[in-house]
Amino acid sequence: MQVSFLDLKAVNAPYTTEMQAATRRFLESGWYVLGEETRAFEEEYARFCGTKHAVGVSNGLDALRLIFEAAKVLGKLAEGDEVLVPANTYIASILAITQSGLRPVLVEPDRATYNIDVHAATEAVGPRTRAILAVHLYGQLADMEALQRLAWEQDLLLFEDAAQAHGARLRDGRCAGNLSLAAGHSFYPGKNLGALGEAGAVTTSDAGFAEAVATLRNYGSQQKYYNRFQGFNMRIDELQAAFLRIRLRGLDKENERRRELAALYRQEIKRPDLVLPHEADYGQHVYHLFPILHPRRDALQAYLRKAGIQTMIHYPLPPHKQEAYAQWKELSLPFTEQLHREELSLPISPCHSDEEIHYVAHCINHFEV
Ligand SMILES: *Cc1c(COP(=O)(O)O)cnc(C)c1O
Repeated sequence: MQVSFLDLKAVNAPYTTEMQAATRRFLESGWYVLGEETRAFEEEYARFCGTKHAVGVSNGLDALRLIFEAAKVLGKLAEGDEVLVPANTYIASILAITQSGLRPVLVEPDRATYNIDVHAATEAVGPRTRAILAVHLYGQLADMEALQRLAWEQDLLLFEDAAQAHGARLRDGRCAGNLSLAAGHSFYPGKNLGALGEAGAVTTSDAGFAEAVATLRNYGSQQKYYNRFQGFNMRIDELQAAFLRIRLRGLDKENERRRELAALYRQEIKRPDLVLPHEADYGQHVYHLFPILHPRRDALQAYLRKAGIQTMIHYPLPPHKQEAYAQWKELSLPFTEQLHREELSLPISPCHSDEEIHYVAHCINHFEV
């Protein structure tokens, strides 16, 4: 059997007819940038997340960039301020901080959830610390109630990187993107809510913040040719907004299917030397990825490849070991480094069949160390 990691054509197949109709509508509209599809997507995505506002932007990195730039023009952050961020996040979270002239403080993740460890974050707060960027890595929410408490006690701004957790909800029903002052979302094609190209969004319930983000994404202009800020061109693409409206309607069902497949993996993988992803009791994991840990990760990956199973590593090198951040070369973050040595992502998507998951689990159980 061949098991692909992620077949995007299959993921989008159930929506093809609707997407063709949307493309026709788009062609006939004659309006290509910040039009009716963008406005409708923003309204529908805000409603989905439970926020008052959503602003469609160019991609997930730019969503995070715009959050920091908005905080700066609103006087909430200044160049050189420190932002706490999990050390094991995808590089985009870190890039957004440094590109905004802010200073990331890398915090070790929690040993169970792989999200920012709240005790370590508390200890990392210094006199220049002004914000926390929580990342809902792999589809699991960070411990937002504890982080909200820390932010309140230490007078810090709290933001979310929700790129991997569209539709993840806390037990009380509140959704990723609605758990902080503002959240950045990516709709890169492989994300749980994926476009057919580049797209992203910022969600917030703060009207002033939403206005600053919407202005900054469009050259800092509210009225054409009059510029309030030195802004950017970080607008969402109108056609992607149309596609996202269609995919959004299937998101909860797709996440439910991901959870079913995760439950199957849990039921069937039986190895004492392998760590399955832990699901925190405060909220629902939406399994953007299914990350396992194994001390012989590379051998396991090669073995699965021979068995026809595609896997991925998220991620092979932590931000502090990247050439781009050579100044952090000497930092020691033991758990982050262990994660990058041992993590392997198994295939999981709304299009995988039960049989495929059985097969992957069966092969893993027969891996000889
Ligand atoms: C994908 C991702 C991003 C960046 O999104 P793009 O749309 O690729 O720019 C940011 N943070 C995390 C955690 C991501 O997974």
